[in-house]
Amino acid sequence: MTEVRTRFAPSPTGFMHLGGVRTALYNYLYARKMGGKFILRIEDTDQERLVPGATQVIYDTLRDCGMDWDEGPDKGGEYGPYIQSDRKDLYLPYAEELIRSGHAYYCFCTKEELAERKAAAEARGEVFKYDKHCLHLSKEEVERKLKAGVPYVIRQNTPTEGETSYKDMVFGEISMPNDTLDDMVLIKQDGMPTYNFANVIDDHLMGITHIMRGMEYLSSTPKYNLLYEAFGWEIPKYVHLPTVMRDKEHKLSKRDGDAYYSDFISKGYLKEALINYLALVGWNPGDDREMFTMDELVQAFDISGLSKSPGIFDVEKLTWFNAQYIRQLPFEKYLSLATPWFEKAFEGMDRQMDFRRLAELMQGRTEVFNRIPEMVAFLKDMPAYELDLYFNKKMKTAPETAADALCMVKPVLEALGPWTEAEIHDRVMDAIQEKGLKNGAVLWPLRIAISGLANTPGGAFEIAYLLGREETLARLDRAIARLQDAYGKGNVQ
Ligand code: GLU
Repeated sequence: MTEVRTRFAPSPTGFMHLGGVRTALYNYLYARKMGGKFILRIEDTDQERLVPGATQVIYDTLRDCGMDWDEGPDKGGEYGPYIQSDRKDLYLPYAEELIRSGHAYYCFCTKEELAERKAAAEARGEVFKYDKHCLHLSKEEVERKLKAGVPYVIRQNTPTEGETSYKDMVFGEISMPNDTLDDMVLIKQDGMPTYNFANVIDDHLMGITHIMRGMEYLSSTPKYNLLYEAFGWEIPKYVHLPTVMRDKEHKLSKRDGDAYYSDFISKGYLKEALINYLALVGWNPGDDREMFTMDELVQAFDISGLSKSPGIFDVEKLTWFNAQYIRQLPFEKYLSLATPWFEKAFEGMDRQMDFRRLAELMQGRTEVFNRIPEMVAFLKDMPAYELDLYFNKKMKTAPETAADALCMVKPVLEALGPWTEAEIHDRVMDAIQEKGLKNGAVLWPLRIAISGLANTPGGAFEIAYLLGREETLARLDRAIARLQDAYGKGNVQ
C-alpha cells in the first residue's frame, strides 16, 4: 500500500482561521492514524494578499497545538522547497508542456479588453467566462506577440462538451458540465503560477495521496482533474470539508472576534479544549465519546466520520469543554494561568491578596480565564447591592434582622488573633453555637455584607480571609450602618 501523504497548504494572509486549524488537524490526524506523512506547504503565490509575519503565525499555531509536520519549509524533506514562491521557476515548463499538448494556450488579452467583454456579457444577462479568444490566434501571431514581448498569461484549455466528474470522500459524486468550466489562468503575467495551477503541480510532485481542504474548492476540482489527466498523472483522493460556521446562516467573522485561533487563546480558552472541540465540529467518532487528547483523536479519527453538513462552532459548547479541561489542570498549572488574570483584576489595589487560596476557590468555577476579573472584582471593590439580598428562605434570613446577626459577629472578628481562615471559621462557629443560632442565619448575612453577592467563590470564611481584617471589618461596619438606617437598631443579642 502506498504511504498516506496529506498536506496543509495555507496562504499566509493573516491570523489562523479556526476553519484552517481544523483543516490542518484533520490532515494531521489522518496522516498519523495511517502511519503516513503530514506535509506543510506555504502557498504564497498571490503576492498581493501576503501579510508580513503570517507564515510565522502558521508555524507557531501548528506547533502550539502539537501538530508537528514531517516535511515543510523549516524542516526540509525530499520534495522541497515547501514554499511556493521558492518554487516559482518550476511551474512554467509544466504549463508549456500543456501548451504543446493543446491543454493550455497563451492569452494576450488585456485587463481592459476583458473588462469590456465581461460588461457586455453581463449586459446580455450572461455570466462571463473567458471566451477562448486567444485560443484562436494563429501560431505565427502568437510567436510574433511573444517575440515583441507582449505581456501574456497562460490559460487552461477546458473542453466545451461533456462533463467532468469525480468522487469526493465526503460529498460523493461531483459532476460539472464542461461548458461551465472557465479557462482559468495557470501562469500569471508576473510569471507566478495561480493557486489553481500550483496546487496541482505541487500535490503531484509532493506525492500527496489525500487532499483535505475547504469545500470552496469542491467545484474547481474538476478543472484540476483535467490537468492531472492532461499530464497523465494519477488523481489523488479528495476529502472536501464543509465550512465551519457560527450558526446555520453565519460564518465565523473577524468582526465578531470569533474567527481566529488567537481570538480564543487570548480570551483564555485552553488549546487542548479548542482542539478537542474543533475536531468534533464536522467529525464524529461514531460513539458518544466527547473528551479526546490528541493521541486519542489520532486513534479514533477516520474519514468516514466526517460530515457533509456545515460544522456549527458553538461557543457555549466550547466553553463547556474548556471548563472541563480547566478543572482537570494540575493546580500549579491553573495557578500560573490564572495569575495574570488575578493581577489584572486587582491592579491598583493596596491590599494583599492570597492568589493561591483564591485559585483553589476559583479553579472549579472558571469556564474561561477572561471571566475571572469579573468574578473576583467584588474582592477589590465592594459592589452595590439591594438589601433584598439578605432574604433567604432556606436560611430564614431577612433584611430586617440581618443587622442583629452582623452585630453578633463583629466583635468576634475584631477580637480575632491571627487572621487565618481556620481562626475565622472556628471563632465564628463557636459564637454561633454559643448563641444557639443556625449557621445559615449568621453566615448568609455575613457573606452578603462582605461580598454584596448571592453567588461567590467560597463562603463567608474564605471571603473574610481573602479580604483581610481591615477590609472585612470596614465592609461589616458599612453593612450594619446601612441596615440600621433602613430598619432601625435591632436587638443585639
Ligand atoms: N492555499 C489554499 C488556501 O489557503 C489551500 C487550499 C488547498 O488546501 O488546496 O485556501
